[in-house]
Amino acid sequence: MNGFAPQIPPLDLLPEIDLLWGEIQSAVSDVIRSGQFVLGPQVRAFESEIAESLSVKHAIACNSGTDALVLGLRALGIGPGDEVITTPFTFYATAEAISLVGAEPVFVDIEPRTFNIDPSQIPAALTPRTKAVVPVHLFGHAADLDPILELSRRHGLTVLEDVAQAFGGRYRGRPLGSIGHAGAFSFYPTKNLGAFGDAGLLATNDDHVAELARKLRTHGSLRRDCNEMIGYNSRLDEIQAAVLRVKLPHVESWNSQRQTAAVTYRRLLADIAGVVPPLVEEYADHVFNQFTVRIIGRNRDAIQKALAQAGIGTNVYYSVPVHRLPVYADHQCHLPVAELAAREVLSLPMGPMLPNAAIGRVADALRAAFAANGEATVAA
Ligand SMILES: *Cc1c(COP(=O)(O)O)cnc(C)c1O
Repeated sequence: MNGFAPQIPPLDLLPEIDLLWGEIQSAVSDVIRSGQFVLGPQVRAFESEIAESLSVKHAIACNSGTDALVLGLRALGIGPGDEVITTPFTFYATAEAISLVGAEPVFVDIEPRTFNIDPSQIPAALTPRTKAVVPVHLFGHAADLDPILELSRRHGLTVLEDVAQAFGGRYRGRPLGSIGHAGAFSFYPTKNLGAFGDAGLLATNDDHVAELARKLRTHGSLRRDCNEMIGYNSRLDEIQAAVLRVKLPHVESWNSQRQTAAVTYRRLLADIAGVVPPLVEEYADHVFNQFTVRIIGRNRDAIQKALAQAGIGTNVYYSVPVHRLPVYADHQCHLPVAELAAREVLSLPMGPMLPNAAIGRVADALRAAFAANGEATVAA
């Protein structure tokens, strides 16, 4: 049908690289010529620029978002015997980090409209072993933090925000990652601020948490031959920091370009009754790491296949909620809202430089797919 139309990938990273190509090249070659490759002046400058942009006291750069979660949990004192409440509708790394520090993830169902953890269901999951909550700001939309923080104060819990998908997003005007006791960021290439490889960062206002995270990042020590604990090698390298510093000043405008693309999607999808666009709560500045719709009244996988045949790349985040993954087979629980979302969600192409024409093609292809996949293909 669209045999000659160009493919539309789920995310095209090249436009932003092209835009900054000269700056990136000179930043990378400066690092190479400096002869300093790990945790040097670029990382330190990146940490202070991030701390300023989030209005937090401390930013500790590390190897990945997963490591940022692990460093954060350990620095907050979470370990074996502890239970940590989190969402089942997230990338596996959120729960994996909790398991990696020896604690037990406890999954609480999500809100149907934002896909984020439902604070009203947290009280029923509390036990004397509950030590922390890890809310995830999924797809770029803030989790509802006020009730979570209020509950945490009452029960003496700590809150670690998983901000991997929401750099630049806000909750009631405040930067995500600066509101809980700490915030864990990922700069994996597909995130709103993306490196040219793996990178992550922990943000906190707590001096003690920051110092512990810095130690843990470098084998449990800040000085040579002074290792105080079992830590990690989770240093960030200078080339990634230099690339991230070139991109950082542009993220805010890239995020508003994503918001503009979302507005266009909403307008063009409005006449397709079975495509439910994402809701934005009044408390959130959504930064649309993903534009994730629900497919209602049709088989989601059939719609995804039809889009692929029209040259449109989409993703299903997530087809299996974390509590249903084989690794957590012993976590017998039924979380109906997350399980339904896993069957209905489809993330459409999104990015700061997504052309309007591409959004139009996606909408047309969805309309055609809905017409072609009649009631016979409705999931049982
Ligand atoms: C990407 C992601 C992570 C992990 O980050 P990495 O940098 O890939 O280790 C954690 N949580 C969520 C919600 C993510 O999307």
